Amino acid sequence: MSKERVLIVDDEEENIHICIQILESAGYEVKGVTNGQAAIDLVRKERFDLLLTDFRMPGLDGMETFRAIKEFNPEIVGIVITAYGALSMAIEAVKLGFHGFITKPFTYEELTTTISQALERSRLDKEIIAHRRINKLKDDFLALVSHELRTPLSIVLSSIGLIIDIRAGKANKREREILSILKVEGNRLSRLISNLILMSELKSQEDKHPREWFNISNMVTKAVASVQGDAHKRGIFIDNQVSEGLPGFYGVNHHIKQVVVNLLDNAIKFNREGGRVILKVHKEGGHIRFEVEDTGIGISEDDYTKIFNPFQQVEDPMTRKVGGAGLGLSINKEVVEAHGGEIWVESVPNGGSKFVFTLPLTNKK
Ligand code: ADP
Repeated sequence: MSKERVLIVDDEEENIHICIQILESAGYEVKGVTNGQAAIDLVRKERFDLLLTDFRMPGLDGMETFRAIKEFNPEIVGIVITAYGALSMAIEAVKLGFHGFITKPFTYEELTTTISQALERSRLDKEIIAHRRINKLKDDFLALVSHELRTPLSIVLSSIGLIIDIRAGKANKREREILSILKVEGNRLSRLISNLILMSELKSQEDKHPREWFNISNMVTKAVASVQGDAHKRGIFIDNQVSEGLPGFYGVNHHIKQVVVNLLDNAIKFNREGGRVILKVHKEGGHIRFEVEDTGIGISEDDYTKIFNPFQQVEDPMTRKVGGAGLGLSINKEVVEAHGGEIWVESVPNGGSKFVFTLPLTNKK
């Protein structure tokens, strides 16, 4: 790695000399000039990481010099040297943009520590900024890609639906099989995209889907309808036991529907052919309690917490066979917790799994 470069500006040549000696022995590459204008001219030609400047100088003072240099080298770290007793001036300089100060007379230790700490802080600041930028880029990319995928996929899915309608009764067995595969796989892709979009919505500050009062039974009916085709194909019966007369709920309808869809989707995916999915929704105290129980492969207690983390799947041949991105449950947890509720999985005596989530009825802020 190349050495870090320090530029010293001080109208007293003796001071420059001392600083050069100290900083060179501490491993920096150092140059010194005796006035602000000379410093500006030099920084135009050469790269420096840090400017160590006296505050009071004839001609341009330390602040003016630093400001002018920052115009064409905004990343440079500035340290101001002030006279002993001029603490308020030093503090003012830091408020105006200097990264630190040192008061005369200073020791070897004081000078090298001030400089290395200021450079370290600036490195960390740059890393944080770069990290934030990359995160933002990632989130924007996720939002863009998932939206761009949704439109063509909806067109493909509705075209498949049309062909199925047109060919109804006329298609031979092979054609029917192909159309059915297209529909199932298309739906699976569509649910993955919905989860990606929801994930990016949860990360963004924008309220794409604001909270509203909605009817839970209607929401659940829509969620069930969206997975009915897949259940039917595998001979799985969805036993919809939503209680009557549920109160209205204040929340993000679209997000909670996706939670129910994700749970039903898993209960179908990880079920056996001809199995059952029991969906119960009822009011319990100050909560609405949702339960999705299946007659599938079940989950071992060791995995109860793990599966709610993003991209986590149980190591199981069935999980690998049916595939999935491992996003549904982590999104569910985020949505449920954002509504002040809880989500967990319970074991079922004769195998299978039961996912439960609760939503408090008193969450209207
Ligand atoms: P995906 O279903 O896309 O893999 P999820 O986050 O929805 O992602 O689920 C994570 C993992 O939890 C699944 O891969 C599976 O191993 C396990 N899992 C979820 N639901 C069930 C279920 N009803 N029965 C058995 N295992 C399940």
